[in-house]
Order: sequence, then C-alpha cells, then structure tokens
Amino acid sequence: MSNSPESEALVLSEDPEHPANHICTLCAKFYSLGWVTGTGGGTSIRHGDKIFIAPSGVQKELMKPTDMFVMDFESREYLRKPRVHKPSACTPLFYAAFKRGAGCCIHTHSQWAVLVTLLVERDIGTDACFEIEQIEQIKGIPKGRGKVGNLGYFERLKIPIIENTAHEEDLTESLEAAMEKYPDTYAVLVRRHGIYVWGDNVHKAKTQCESIDYILQLAVEMKKLGLPWTTN
Ligand SMILES: [Zn+2]
Repeated sequence: MSNSPESEALVLSEDPEHPANHICTLCAKFYSLGWVTGTGGGTSIRHGDKIFIAPSGVQKELMKPTDMFVMDFESREYLRKPRVHKPSACTPLFYAAFKRGAGCCIHTHSQWAVLVTLLVERDIGTDACFEIEQIEQIKGIPKGRGKVGNLGYFERLKIPIIENTAHEEDLTESLEAAMEKYPDTYAVLVRRHGIYVWGDNVHKAKTQCESIDYILQLAVEMKKLGLPWTTN
C-alpha cells in the first residue's frame, strides 16, 4: 500500500508534542532506561480519533516520525502504513487500553518487571498479583479509572500478572480479562516478558510507568534483602 500525500501529512509536524514526534522522543528515552532494548517493547498514543503506533522490529531509539503507523480509532483501519515496516504485534493490546479510555499505552521489557513476575510465581503462586504497600512512590499511581486522586502511602498497589504466549498478539484475551477483573489497574505484568502501562494521557502514562518501574526495581532489591513487600 502506498501512502497518499494526505496520509503522509498525518505524521509530519513541527510540534514536538505531535504523537508521531512524541513517540520517537519517548522511545529514545525508554531505550536508555533499558525498557525497549533490541526492538522489544513499544509505545502508542491515541490522539482524538487516531491511534499512532511505533512499528515492529525497529530499533526504538532510532525511529523517525515517518516510521509510524496511524490507525482510525473507530474502524481500526490503517490510515497510514509505512511500506518498509510491519505493524506492531502489540497493536491489539494497546487498543484494549484505548477502548478503556487510555490516551497512551507503553509496553516495556524492563528486567525488573520480568523478575517480579518470577518472584511472585515462586513465592506466592501463578494466580497471584504483585502487591506492595507503604512505599512513597505508590503515590504516583492513580486510585483507578473514574476515581479521584492517587493511591495513598498506606494503600496497597496491586498489579495483575498474565502468562506469556509464544506470540505477543495472543496476549490480548488475557490482558483484557485482567483489565476486567481489576478495573482499577493501570498496568498488567506479563510473566517472563515485561509490562503494559497506560494512562489518561501521555504525561500520565509516562510518569506512571516510571513510578511502577521504580517500585518493581525496589521490590526486587527488597526481596534480595529478605524484606517483605506487604505488612501481612
Ligand atoms: Zn513485548
């Protein structure tokens, strides 16, 4: 499919906050955090009736705005498809977050996320969520969709964990099931794989992803020191 000048214009803007530019800046930052190494992970932004998605298999720190896929939110038809790239296998997973009101969704392969899923499996069980409380950074996570404010210091952060699949797109069903079962969550961990974090807008998704990654790293270090994540 060749792109019309009209569809090319969808990704061309001088505005650094334009989703096509913003995704590139964010992914370059996430690369330096080790979140999207080796082309893994990705980021997607919903902007009005359009969804902007980073392509599959591309070095995330070297992406250009013209690498972006653009999808119509309602019809899920591609409005722009770079010929040289494959659409991201994360697309249906990002879409699941957008359907629930998210403005941005970030997928990382953070090692802290992977390690926490292994620790929960070993010490609590395969059906368990990751749970932690009384850590200051928990205050960076909202209480839940439609609820006012963020979690308090004494409240418990609970992140569901789903099992990994051979193909990323096959995670969609279990991700959606976790979203239904835990309607207040803004993140889902994927065992031996990473994490999906979303937020009402780009700013919130980014800061929530940072807060959660900080907490996951801390949780791994706490475990090494024999410190409990919760008080009971
Ligand atoms: Zn992945």
